[in-house]
Amino acid sequence: MVRSVRSVAAEGTATVSLGGAMATVGMVGDHLAWGVGRTNLGGHSTSALARLLGPPPAPGRPPRTAAGTAAIILFVVGGLTLLGASVSTGTSGGGAVSGLVIGLVMVASGIALFVQDSRVRDRAFSNARAHHAAAFGVWAALFYCARCDAAWHPALGSFGPSVAVPAAIHAAAASALASAPVTVLDARTA
Ligand SMILES: [Zn+2]
Repeated sequence: MVRSVRSVAAEGTATVSLGGAMATVGMVGDHLAWGVGRTNLGGHSTSALARLLGPPPAPGRPPRTAAGTAAIILFVVGGLTLLGASVSTGTSGGGAVSGLVIGLVMVASGIALFVQDSRVRDRAFSNARAHHAAAFGVWAALFYCARCDAAWHPALGSFGPSVAVPAAIHAAAASALASAPVTVLDARTA
C-alpha cells in the first residue's frame, strides 16, 4: 500500500480521546494501528512512524556565539568600570580618567562583538531557513510503502527504510542547495 508521506504523517498524529487517556490511532500499511502511552503494536508505534515521516522541523534562531557572550561580559564590566570612574572623578583625577577610557574601550569593543554576533547568527539562520525550505520540498514529494517500509522520491529515487528518511531528506536538501545556481543580487551587475 503506497501513499504520500504527507498522509502517513497526518494520520499517524491524529488523536482521539479515550476515557480521559490520549490514544493515537492511525493506519500503518493495511493495518489499523493504535497506541496508548508507550504501547507498541507491530514493528512501529504509529507515533514513531509519523515522527520519522513527518515534515522537517522549522529551524529556530541559532544560539548566541562566543562573541555574543564576550559582548555581554564587556558591557557589564565596562559599564561597572565607567560607573566606578565617574563616582571617583571628584576625588582622584588621573585614575578616574584612565578608568573612563578603559570603560569606554570595553563598551565599544562589546558593541563591535555584539554586531559581529548578530551578523553570524543572521547568516546561519538564513542558511537554516533555506535548508528547511529545500527539505520541506523534498519531504512533500515523498511516497511510502508500508509493506516494504520503503520511502522514495519520484525524481531522486530511494530514501531507504523509514528510520533513514530524516537523514536522507537532510542530505537531499543539502545537495539541492549546493547545486542551486548562484543568484547575483548585486544591482550593479544586473
Ligand atoms: Zn512496497
